[in-house]
Amino acid sequence: MDTKKLAGLLYPDAKPLEYWFKKYPSRKLKEGAQTTRFAPSPTGYLHIGGVYAALINSTIARQTQGVCFLRIEDTDQKREIEGGIQCILDGFNTFDVGFNEGQLNTQNGIGNYGPYIQSKRVEIYKSFAKEMVQKGMAYPCFCTAEDLSLMRKQQEEQKQNPGYYGKYAKCRDLTFEQVQNNINSGKSWVLRFKCPYTENDKMETFDLVRGKRTIPCNYNDVVIMKTDGIPPYNFAHVVDDTLMGTTLVIRGDEWLPSLTEHLQLFEALGLKAPLYAHISPIQKIDETNGERRKLSKRKDPEADVRFFIQQGYTVQAVFDYLMVLANSNFEDWRAQNPKQPLANFKFEISKLNTSGALFDMVKLNDISKNTISNMSAKQVYDLAYDWAKQYDAELASIMQQDPQYYINILNIDREIAKPRKDISHWAELKDMYSYMFDNSFDSKTIVFPQNYDKESVKQILKLYPNFFNSADDQSTWFGRIKDLAQNLGFAREVKEFKKDPTLYKGHCGDVSTILRIALTGRTQTPNLYDICMLLGKDRIKNRLEQCLNNL
Ligand code: GLU
Repeated sequence: MDTKKLAGLLYPDAKPLEYWFKKYPSRKLKEGAQTTRFAPSPTGYLHIGGVYAALINSTIARQTQGVCFLRIEDTDQKREIEGGIQCILDGFNTFDVGFNEGQLNTQNGIGNYGPYIQSKRVEIYKSFAKEMVQKGMAYPCFCTAEDLSLMRKQQEEQKQNPGYYGKYAKCRDLTFEQVQNNINSGKSWVLRFKCPYTENDKMETFDLVRGKRTIPCNYNDVVIMKTDGIPPYNFAHVVDDTLMGTTLVIRGDEWLPSLTEHLQLFEALGLKAPLYAHISPIQKIDETNGERRKLSKRKDPEADVRFFIQQGYTVQAVFDYLMVLANSNFEDWRAQNPKQPLANFKFEISKLNTSGALFDMVKLNDISKNTISNMSAKQVYDLAYDWAKQYDAELASIMQQDPQYYINILNIDREIAKPRKDISHWAELKDMYSYMFDNSFDSKTIVFPQNYDKESVKQILKLYPNFFNSADDQSTWFGRIKDLAQNLGFAREVKEFKKDPTLYKGHCGDVSTILRIALTGRTQTPNLYDICMLLGKDRIKNRLEQCLNNL
């Protein structure tokens, strides 16, 4: 077969490869710099596992002073959903991992190696497909879906491996005339790789996470161009990562079984394959049976990045958590460097977990509380307010009524050596501090624990306003609570009470608990002194009176 003639017949107008290599010259990066990419398909919302992979990719690029780009892989139009690309862009707009180039907007993308969206690269794929034919490494296949299913049935009956290979690869040996006739008669065709390997062959592969492995290799004449003239993932990957100068492909380990096929395609084109690192998907413990499973788009709301956005998780906390999942030593590093940017952590691919990182909302919330506790009240206010404007109009309106008052609330037990760790995401804020606002504070619902006798409670509520002075510092303020306690027959000090509880109605702590409940409706709050100072004498008086009336 004259493969040049065949190539001309199949792809008459394709540009020569040199054209593309000239258009996309090798990147001039310093030695050791890695070019990485994240290459999602717009088949649904952005999965948190996608942000995880993208973060790892961008971290490696940044650490090596390389480049990380975003490429949209939309060659499988059947699986594409409407608005899928926008979903990805929106997701990364919030979870900005720091791509240097790529399809970062809906237009042409940013960078010199575009288009960064595969459906706009068909002309390029054609040139490479033509090259494959010319080299005798690919051929057109006219088998119909019925032909293929018949073949599969035969293979099953004969207990043969399924696939298009060896004697089953019927179209491998068509003559030029047969191909020409088929094409002239309008038969549709796909282009298949003429795989030079057999069922018994093995191939040595190397993966930065799993190391060197010799594995059985692909022996199928896989499709590299579909009937619509668009390549499936395998061929588009080889072409794009070559022309875009990718040096390291970090992708999900679901691609591990096709690694030999991809390596064969690079080999067939005489191209150098990039390095690979296959990462395990994020998993979780299924609440129903206690077993590990993949974080699922269908079952788990937290698989969708929009969940974190809607709930008001900070990007910093989510990134920190994803880093903990990727490199467990990150947690110690963060504890020692609470305020340093993530970029200063030395990430190592070899420390990635091969059995799959476990996603756990409790842990994320802990990390998140930690992150937020290290922010200033003003930072918390700004981030939370930005979020509220979009996702919680009521909170936004509360926050904007008196920004300084809200900042002061947020500043309670903050910016101190051991700041309070209570907020994990902004959706919690409205309820968390509702008692600081008269509109959302209802003294009617307040109940005092049974162990306090009603008379004492009444006395405390009645007398406390006389013991409050807004000019007091914390210890004077508490001294006055102790005075009140003593006046009402409570122990001034807990120690005294413990010596002989029979002598007292309770101790000073009980008095402040009653006040806390009366003023906030809760048994646990941040520092009551700060709360009292922010509420001010009038509101304190008012709330205590309301409580008294309800008793
Ligand atoms: N489009 C592929 C996917 O979404 C990309 C795999 C890769 O990163 O190479 O799974």
